Amino acid sequence: MELSILEFLNTDWIIRRQGKDDPLYNEEWLDNYLTKVMGDKIESSEKLSFEMTKLRTLFIKSIEDLVCGELNYDVLIEELNKHLAVAPSVRKIISIEDKYEMRFKTDKMTDDFILAELCFYMYQLLFKSEKERIRICENPDCKYIFFDTSRNKSKRHCYEGCANIMKVRRFRDKYSEK
Ligand SMILES: [Zn+2]
Repeated sequence: MELSILEFLNTDWIIRRQGKDDPLYNEEWLDNYLTKVMGDKIESSEKLSFEMTKLRTLFIKSIEDLVCGELNYDVLIEELNKHLAVAPSVRKIISIEDKYEMRFKTDKMTDDFILAELCFYMYQLLFKSEKERIRICENPDCKYIFFDTSRNKSKRHCYEGCANIMKVRRFRDKYSEK
């Protein structure tokens, strides 16, 4: 669950860091992603891509605020609820990767339902997981969003490479001051 919403958020990282076009506008990427997340084959569209970019902006801002302890939960919850309100659905028990989960399903797959599902994942990330493990890589050129699974919750960089870059930078800063 966390992984698929993080994958969605980090499409922003792919644009910034890898200089690629927005995956949300890449039909193949989006079709694969939606099929994986929704468990059904979904028709993507440019309108859906656009709505997803708006949601991504909101979610990334929320994660940034969360990490520095400034997230206004009421404002975010209101936004999530707006999306949930316009996507009628029924509850259904489904099996996902050998586990059973209660999920919301719809007879007619609409953009509104897909956006509501993304809001549901964001809700799970923020309120059903250990949100103190959510991190933004401290390399300012990177800012990859990840879930810190280390035992002592001490991970500050997405991978070794970013940790080394920051180590070198700190070392340089320290000695250039003298
Ligand atoms: Zn990084």
